Amino acid sequence: MNSLYGKTTPSLWPENGVVPLTPQWQESNCALARLLAIHRRALGKAIAVAVEIRRDIDELTPLMAALCRRTCRFCPEPCCISNTVWIDFRDLLFLHLLEEPIPPCQATSGPDDPCPFLSHHGCRLPPRIRPWMCIQYVCPAQRAVLKKRGRPAAASLLGKIERIEKNRVRMEAEVTRRVTRPMRTSPSSSPASSG
Ligand code: SF4
Ligand code: SF4
Repeated sequence: MNSLYGKTTPSLWPENGVVPLTPQWQESNCALARLLAIHRRALGKAIAVAVEIRRDIDELTPLMAALCRRTCRFCPEPCCISNTVWIDFRDLLFLHLLEEPIPPCQATSGPDDPCPFLSHHGCRLPPRIRPWMCIQYVCPAQRAVLKKRGRPAAASLLGKIERIEKNRVRMEAEVTRRVTRPMRTSPSSSPASSG
């Protein structure tokens, strides 16, 4: 069900069920969607910050993809297998505020198990909805490539990552401020007098 204020049931990705849905994850996301829908009218600033983050992620994606093309094909220890990653609360806020599809389960896996979104062709998730810790990860091999490209190129890429990081903190702070502030009630919504 979706209200006038926003979606109260999130769209989960992918719709074809390639990655199995986790019911507990779905319930948590429905609860978050309902909470944000209740406060949607007060969340304009948080949504504007999320839009900025999305624009910066869209700019960052081809730069990171170019780095991956240089380094990943022959990587002896791919980070999607060796690193433990997860979708954090800020990732979820970002996706919910923009009504982007939500991954169907958490990205975490056991030690040395690959991430559930990993396929033979790389990550199944569209870049925008990947965990931020994956999007912003620059491994040592990639740092070496950046170093060869020179300081301005490295500073530009790392600067974009830093800006997104700061905006994620701003976005969460803004949501927390709005959601925890007592809601104003209009006189018509006050309890009727029994006298
Ligand atoms: S990003 Fe780095 S660690 Fe990850 S697969 Fe590519 S080369 Fe390997
Ligand atoms: S979500 Fe994608 S990029 Fe992140 S670890 Fe999993 S497969 Fe790799």
